Parts: sequence; C-alpha cells; structure tokens
Amino acid sequence: RLAFDNIWHSFSRTAETLRGVSLTAEPGEVLCLLGPSGSGKTTLLRIAAGIETQTRGRILLNDREISGPNVFVPPEKRSIGLVFQDFALFPHLSILDNVRFGLTALSPADARREALAAIARVGLTHHAHSFPHILSGGEQQRVALARALAPRPAVLLLDEPFSGLDSRLKDTVRAETLAILRQSRATAIVVTHDAEEAMRMGDRIALLKDGRLVQVGPAETLFQNPADLFVAGFFSELN
Ligand code: ATP
Repeated sequence: RLAFDNIWHSFSRTAETLRGVSLTAEPGEVLCLLGPSGSGKTTLLRIAAGIETQTRGRILLNDREISGPNVFVPPEKRSIGLVFQDFALFPHLSILDNVRFGLTALSPADARREALAAIARVGLTHHAHSFPHILSGGEQQRVALARALAPRPAVLLLDEPFSGLDSRLKDTVRAETLAILRQSRATAIVVTHDAEEAMRMGDRIALLKDGRLVQVGPAETLFQNPADLFVAGFFSELN
C-alpha cells in the first residue's frame, strides 16, 4: 500500500504544482492517475519514487513513512520501481544487462538468475542477448517493465507507458502490460492523460486538476456519477 498524505509541491514560489493531494494505492490494485497536461501527475510519481521532494506532506509505504519532514528514504531503498515514458533503456547494453542493472545488491549469479526470470515473465527470453534497437516499441516497453519488476518492488510506477507507441500497437501492449502487472501482484500506479486508457486499465481512477485531486473511484463511478463538470467533461467523449 502506497499512501500520499497531504502532498504539496511547488517548483517556484509563485505556483503550486500539487495542492494537498491525499491518495492511497491499495495492495495489488492498478490505480490510474488521470488528468490534463500540467495537472501534476508526473510530479506526484517522482515524489513517490524519491527523485523529487514535496514541500509538505508525507509518503507512506505499507504504513511506514518513507518521506516526510524528518524522513527521507533514498530512491534505491524504497522498493518502488519506475517505468519511464521513453523506456530509458541503455542502447549499448544487452536486454539481460539492462534488466540486471537494477540488481546490483545481489551476487552476480543471483542477479543473472533474477534478471533472466524477469525477462521470461515478459516473454522475451529469446531476446535476452539482443540489443534494444532491434526490438519493437512494444518489446522495448516490456524490457522496461522487466527491469522495473526484477528487484520485486512493492509498488510499480508507470509514467505514460504507452505514449511512445504506435496507435496500432497500443491495445495489445496495454493488455500485455496489464496481464504482467496482475501476475506480479505489484501495486501499480499508471499515469495517463487518456480517459479511455484509464478506464481500460484502472481498478480505480484518480483524477487530478491543477494539482488537486478532483475525484477517486472505480471508472463506472466517475463516468456515471461525476463529482463536477470537469470530471463529466473528461469522460464525455467516451461511451
Ligand atoms: P504532462 O502530462 O504534460 O507530463 P503532468 O500532469 O504530468 O503533465 P507535471 O509534469 O507534474 O504535470 O507538471 C506540473 C506542472 O509543473 C506543470 O505546470 C509543469 O510545467 C511544471 N513543471 C514540471 N517540471 C518542472 C520543472 N523541472 N521546473 C519547473 N516547472 C516544472
């Protein structure tokens, strides 16, 4: 369980990026963080990962404070995996070495075994010794997922994981990703600005606007009982 407790954030003194966000991702759920560009979604993920710091508020992982006024657990000790928008694979490293990269705490033999297991989980064993450039966009996305899952994190954060993909590939990769997330039983937070994507993937959706949480709940609730016109507008083009 990952909890955001009254998170405030600003990049400058004049503008607030996040304004008192409280939100909990429950164990094993896929929570979609939805909102227009600039609403603060990426910043919230970066704060959870420990690569950005809130100005006020606390982050708790399984009820333990990992970030707050007097606590800061560094990113590599948080048991939180991150999948970046552009996958961020190292072009000069094989798939195996890319996935092994996050496993430096293990012995070389254990790291290799765990990396190969993660590669197998995303169905890319035959590409373990390939380099990223020969893989399709969807396959590269699965490598990024394997790398994030290899250390067996308690929580996985995915920032617009499908935005770099060809629209024809998106549905397939989205379904594959969801199956892998379900199988790994990790708690996942997926950032998207696409209401349809959030409805397809999320057990629940959290809708952000201007750094504030507008509504959280299952897709049907937001769709059928929107809290306000903004929520209604966000879902109005779907049917
Ligand atoms: P997008 O979907 O466009 O990525 P987002 O909802 O993820 O949007 P954030 O990236 O969290 O939003 O950005 C929130 C606000 O903070 C935006 O107004 C953005 O311009 C601003 N911002 C983001 N990064 C920085 C930075 N490094 N310095 C200053 N302002 C920033």
